[in-house]
Amino acid sequence: MKSTVRVLLIGAAGRMGKTIVDLARTDREIDIVAQCDLGDPIETAMEDCDVAIDFSHADAITEICRAALHCNKSLVIGTTGHSQAQRQTIKEAARSLPIVLASNFSVGVNVLFWLTRKAAERFGDDFSAEIVEAHHKTKRDAPSGTAKTLAELLKAARKIENEIPIQSIREGDVVGEHTVIFKGPEERLELTHRAASREIFARGALRAAKWVMGRPPGLYSMQDVLGL
Ligand code: NAD
Repeated sequence: MKSTVRVLLIGAAGRMGKTIVDLARTDREIDIVAQCDLGDPIETAMEDCDVAIDFSHADAITEICRAALHCNKSLVIGTTGHSQAQRQTIKEAARSLPIVLASNFSVGVNVLFWLTRKAAERFGDDFSAEIVEAHHKTKRDAPSGTAKTLAELLKAARKIENEIPIQSIREGDVVGEHTVIFKGPEERLELTHRAASREIFARGALRAAKWVMGRPPGLYSMQDVLGL
């Protein structure tokens, strides 16, 4: 029988936090032993967990990394919108701890990442690339973390420094939609992912929490978790 992963959930009162709590009730390998939200002390809550899952706000990351280093715990980070300095804080923590950092935990989007890289490698310089993303009106960061990841993949695959144009749409209660558009002479390819519910991200985050336990220190992606 597989052992249970004891989880501290940070951002527990938010949309993703609540979705994770609901999903974890049906998962025998996950036990949410502590929950934190804005104003709660993170380090005390971290003492009794194996893995901390963060779906809160980018500004929480310094305290989360400090607590994880002090308590020697693994991290699964789903929060997006980190600044360069905050990303550096995560990278430094990953020298001592196993950390999964993913702008999107869904299987479909991670396959989209894979397809985007492959398509960009195949299309020559005759093809331009752009990204369109849509999310609910209350999403705080724009462009989305997923759109930024797609842009980084495209730049790396095309070996260019120019920024990839990203159009961000904020409307209604859209959970998340991302389209990568390749435009060439007389033809166009569009790769689209549409999320129907937040459960896909929650399921991926719990899968990452089980995967990260006992790994060597390092900064891992959801593609590492999925073996893509
Ligand atoms: P939300 O606003 O509904 O919830 C965020 C929660 O975090 C709130 O309850 C808030 O009070 C809490 N919070 C804010 N600052 C905090 C702090 N310093 N310490 C502890 N808690 C704090 O947002 P959401 O839709 O649940 O999304 C949360 C984050 O996850 C966002 O950055 C979002 O972009 C990201 N997200 C990532 C994925 C993914 O797959 N990686 C999927 C969906 C959302």
